[in-house]
Amino acid sequence: MVQRRYRTSRFRKVYVRTAHGTKLRVKKREKAVKQRCAICGAVIKLGKGKGAKTRTGKSRAFTGKLCHSCAERVLRYKARVELTGDIESVPIIYRPYI
Ligand SMILES: [Zn+2]
Repeated sequence: MVQRRYRTSRFRKVYVRTAHGTKLRVKKREKAVKQRCAICGAVIKLGKGKGAKTRTGKSRAFTGKLCHSCAERVLRYKARVELTGDIESVPIIYRPYI
C-alpha cells in the first residue's frame, strides 16, 4: 500500500522506463500551481493566446498578478487618480495597485 501522505491528488503520476526497458516505475511529482488573478481569481495564461507579445507576455503591467481585464481597470483608475487626486472614488480592492 502506498504511504498515506502520497495518497492525494496533489501529486501527479509520472511513468519512467527503467534501464532494462521492461518495467515501468511510478513516481509522483507535485502539480504545477496555476497563476491566478489577485482580484477576480481568474487563471492567468502567460505567453499564450492571441495578440502581440506586449498584450500577453512579460512586458505588460501587472503580469502574473492580475488578469487582463483587472489590469486594464487598475490602469484606468490610476490615470483618474493622477488627474484628480481623488483616491476615495476608487474601490478598495484596486487601491493596493494604484
Ligand atoms: Zn482579474
